[in-house]
Amino acid sequence: MAKKVRVRFAPSPTGGLHLGGVRTVLYNYLFARHHGGEFVLRIEDTDQSRYVPGAEEYIYDTLEWCGLLPDESPRKGGAFGPYRQSERKELYRAFAERLVDAGRAYYAFDTPEELDAMRTRLKNDTNPTPQYDHRVRTGMRNSLTLPAEEVKTLLDAGTPHVVRIRLEPGETVTFTDMIRGEVSFDTALVDDKVLLKADGMPTYHLAVVVDDHLMEITHAFRGEEWLPSAPVHVLLWRWLFGEEAMPHWAHLPLILGPSGKLSKRDGAKYGFPVFAMNWTDPKTNELTEGFRERGFLPEAFVNLLALLGWNDGTEQELFSLEELVRRFQMEKVHKGGAQFNFEKAQWFNHEWIKRSTAQRLLPDVKTVLAAKGITAADDTQTLRIIDLVKERCTLLSDFPAQAGFFFQAPQELDTTAFIAKWTQEKKAFFEQYAGAISNVADAASFESTFKAGAEAAGIKPGELQLPLRIMLVGGKFGPPVFAIAEVIGAEETAARIRKALEVIG
Ligand code: GLU
Repeated sequence: MAKKVRVRFAPSPTGGLHLGGVRTVLYNYLFARHHGGEFVLRIEDTDQSRYVPGAEEYIYDTLEWCGLLPDESPRKGGAFGPYRQSERKELYRAFAERLVDAGRAYYAFDTPEELDAMRTRLKNDTNPTPQYDHRVRTGMRNSLTLPAEEVKTLLDAGTPHVVRIRLEPGETVTFTDMIRGEVSFDTALVDDKVLLKADGMPTYHLAVVVDDHLMEITHAFRGEEWLPSAPVHVLLWRWLFGEEAMPHWAHLPLILGPSGKLSKRDGAKYGFPVFAMNWTDPKTNELTEGFRERGFLPEAFVNLLALLGWNDGTEQELFSLEELVRRFQMEKVHKGGAQFNFEKAQWFNHEWIKRSTAQRLLPDVKTVLAAKGITAADDTQTLRIIDLVKERCTLLSDFPAQAGFFFQAPQELDTTAFIAKWTQEKKAFFEQYAGAISNVADAASFESTFKAGAEAAGIKPGELQLPLRIMLVGGKFGPPVFAIAEVIGAEETAARIRKALEVIG
């Protein structure tokens, strides 16, 4: 029987989640659901110097907002916990020692000063960042160069040390990536990475392999930036648990901005969000804008992320999460970078606002209205308003401008559009109309009363409709004008007309 699919998203809590991070979550989630498997959230916080308070909370909040909740996580628990690597600290050392005993890793006692001196000594134009590797280690203080007794004495005395992987040149490490096919690396180019740090914490490289094993992960999906680390992970798998037990890998393509890899800086420069939700850096107080706060629906955000690097081979672009679960295939993810385009992202949101029911939009719309000081107290009425204006809203944040006039009479009237053609006959028509509608309730009757009055006054109704719109709305926009009158009611319609006539004269 095939093993149950288990995938993981394994972020380091170092800040807000960038588009690419959420796409990694999404692809993991889709794959797990498609195969009836499990999706694990594991917090990789072994690098305490990079730990940022609030970042873990932010990850949960983002997953919740997107509707991509994990089956197991530090918060939810599960049979393979703890799910925070800092809480698993004690279990990694034994694996590092197993590697040392097998001759696949070694103790290194070099002090930070000695490491700096090595880098300064070896640095030149062809080698700008010297690495601790098979050439360099012979001249350093480690258990490969020091006599066994001295190593024992140093260890017994508790001398600070790290454990490094021992990579020998002359080997090619090959593995199959679900997106890229066969990928090979020359071991001569890979350095002897630290596996266990002086503080006893594992580095990411050791922890990721040990935890993927202990958590029975079957497929590991992550960003392309981790591809250079893959040979280290493959070798660790080979030496610790056997390569046949290794998860299937997929390295997801980069997301490209206007100039190369999409970055936070691009967002600031071009004025679009790159994070899922607003993130304030607790140290600098710098705010990075999120898609949520810009007015994106999570359905649209998920949809646009799915399409950044994947399609199902048809022209279809709009997919619900359920449809994505059905259609998603990791093998169809593209190798090349995926171009992010904010115009297109907004198109997705507009489409999702249009296809969402008013009921679905109601809480979000009430929130954006409230943020502008508009209270939408009557849900039945707000639902009608949403149905009338949603086609005109690309972002949720467009609702206050598109619908605010339903709740509050416009403060200013853009009369420039009709004032040149304004006449006292038109004024008389509006005075009459304001009086004639007192018992009118539906759009059709508002319209027939309007037409009858215009005919009696000998004015084309077409010439009167724009002034009416501006009296009710404030400007030249909005849904059909008699539908607006129906929603705000006869009394309010008449009041707005009379108030406008005072201004226009
Ligand atoms: N902790 C790594 C990160 O922050 C995870 C990489 C992986 O999934 O192996 O992205």
